[in-house]
Amino acid sequence: MNNSQTRCLNCDRSDEEIPLVSLRYAGKQAWVCSQCMPVLIHKPQQLAGKLAGAEKMTGAAHGH
Ligand SMILES: [Zn+2]
Repeated sequence: MNNSQTRCLNCDRSDEEIPLVSLRYAGKQAWVCSQCMPVLIHKPQQLAGKLAGAEKMTGAAHGH
């Protein structure tokens, strides 16, 4: 098991497979790949449980 490798918080792909973008949120660092960036922007609730505090975010132009 290798937790030190940089992986997308959503799809778990490594930076050897896909470009990853560094994030900082709630004082923690996380990584998201170029493909999952739109999910983070528009549907952050989908990342609840993967990114700590994501359930508190609201998606852009999205209401319940
Ligand atoms: Zn991803």
